[in-house]
Amino acid sequence: MRKKLVAGNWKMHGSLTDNAALLSAIKPALAGMEAVVCVPFPYLAQVQAALSGSSIAWGAQNLSDQPKGAFTGEVSAAMLLDFGCKYVIVGHSERRSLFGETDAVVARKYVAAQAAGLTPILCVGESLEEREAGITERIVARQIDAVIEAAGVASLARAVLAYEPVWAIGTGKTATPEQAQAVHAFIRSKIAALNATIADGLTIQYGGSVKASNAAELLAQPDIDGGLIGGASLIADEFVAICKAAAN
Ligand code: PEP
Repeated sequence: MRKKLVAGNWKMHGSLTDNAALLSAIKPALAGMEAVVCVPFPYLAQVQAALSGSSIAWGAQNLSDQPKGAFTGEVSAAMLLDFGCKYVIVGHSERRSLFGETDAVVARKYVAAQAAGLTPILCVGESLEEREAGITERIVARQIDAVIEAAGVASLARAVLAYEPVWAIGTGKTATPEQAQAVHAFIRSKIAALNATIADGLTIQYGGSVKASNAAELLAQPDIDGGLIGGASLIADEFVAICKAAAN
């Protein structure tokens, strides 16, 4: 059976004080349950100290596609490993739209993450205009194909995919369970056409305004294997309730 996995994306939020409170609330509440928090780079050491030995893994929200060198402001996969990261988000829509990350850049980051032994959480998803133009599947397929071309379909055995419709991220608008399921099923069938075993084992998260109040119905869909959670991951009770909904 596929693994259900909930990951929090703290984005550019947090402080040493706020993080300490959040971590000390979610750690006991999620004892024994697998979950992930992806935090800003400066807080990786704090999260490592707080979560080591717990069932909650941690990761970053971005990485360089380069291993080292004169790349001011960049952070390499090896540096993330130094802080115990297991996961790294790659190709989040905010990276694509605000920081100009193309499919090719995202694919290189995915390759760099896996080469170092990190598990990329690869984000894909269409904008509102693309959905309204009826080209959701074409967009998502293009984003996934870039990674398959760079790393091969077998690489998806060491990755998590997150379907995040851009119009649902941070907007309070959630895709209906049926809308989300339709895209998840499309993604799985597309990958199954290349390798059925990989497709069957692939964890495909849904992301986009997931909250405690809508998590259960989204997570009940057959091809939704967890969530990538932004805003609600900053609220301990919300994040814990979503993780518990995934575990049920
Ligand atoms: C995200 O950041 O990936 C996300 C889905 O954000 P939110 O849950 O706030 O929509």
